[in-house]
Amino acid sequence: MRRNGKEQIIGGKRWIGDRVTKIVANPIYRGAIVHQDQEFQGVHEALVTESLWTKANKALSSINTPAPPHAKHNKHELLLKGFLRCHQCGNLMTPKPLGKKDSDGNPCLYYCCGDVNRDGLASSCGFSNIGSKPFEEFVIKVIGEMGRHPDVIKATLAASKIRGNKAIRPLQKKIAAAEKSKRSICDQIQSYVEMVKKLGADNVGDKFVVEMKALGDQNQKAEVEIETLKMDLQRLEKLVITEAHVSDALLQFKKVFDTLDFAEQRELIELLI
Ligand SMILES: [Zn+2]
Repeated sequence: MRRNGKEQIIGGKRWIGDRVTKIVANPIYRGAIVHQDQEFQGVHEALVTESLWTKANKALSSINTPAPPHAKHNKHELLLKGFLRCHQCGNLMTPKPLGKKDSDGNPCLYYCCGDVNRDGLASSCGFSNIGSKPFEEFVIKVIGEMGRHPDVIKATLAASKIRGNKAIRPLQKKIAAAEKSKRSICDQIQSYVEMVKKLGADNVGDKFVVEMKALGDQNQKAEVEIETLKMDLQRLEKLVITEAHVSDALLQFKKVFDTLDFAEQRELIELLI
C-alpha cells in the first residue's frame, strides 16, 4: 500500500517461510553489510537494534533446529518401538494410550499388537497389549541379570574364544617358524666360532669375517621379529575376554544404561536385539 492509498505489488513473492527467515537473518537490518563472507559496519542507518536482531535470530534458530530423527517418530521416547513383535501373530507392536494416566497425569502407553490395533475385535490375534514402561524396565533388567547366568556367559565366552583362536593360531605358527630360523642362524654362528678356535683368529680370511657379520645381522633381525610377533600375540590374548569380564560387564549394564541419553539407549538396544 502506497502513501497515496494505491496498492502496488513489489517482488510478487508470497510473504512466508524462509523468505521471512532470510530477511530476519540479514545483518543489513542492524546496520551491517556483508562482503565476501566478511561483515563491515555499514554507512546506512540500522532498522533494528543489535539486541533485537540477536533476539529475533535466536528465536528463529530454536524454531528451525530440526528434531533428531528418533524424536520425530518417537516423541514418547519408547525404547522398544519398532523392535517388538507380537508373539502370537508376528505383527509389529505399536504404542497406544489406553486411557490410564501416570502419577504426573501423562497418558500411560501400551505396546499393542498391530493386528489388534487395526482390526479391533475382528482381529484373529488373541494378544492385546502390554504396558510400555514396565515392559521396558523388565527387558533392561533381564539383560543385566544375564551376568548371573553361567550358561549365557559360557556361550559368550566360547564365541569370543573361537574368534580369538582364529587370529592367535597363525601368529603362534609364525613365532615357531621365526624361532626355528633363529636357531639355525645360531647353529651356523656356533660352527664358525668353533672354526676360529681351531684355526686361530689370525688365520681366518676376509670372506669369513664378512659371512660372520652377515650371520650376526640376521640373528639380530630374527630376534626383533620374534619379539614383535610375541607382543602381537600378547595383545590378542588379552582381547579374548574372560568369564569374569563378561559377567562384570553385564552386571554393570543397568548402571551404564541409565547414564545414556534416549538416542544412545535405543542404539544399544538395537545392537542387542
Ligand atoms: Zn498379535
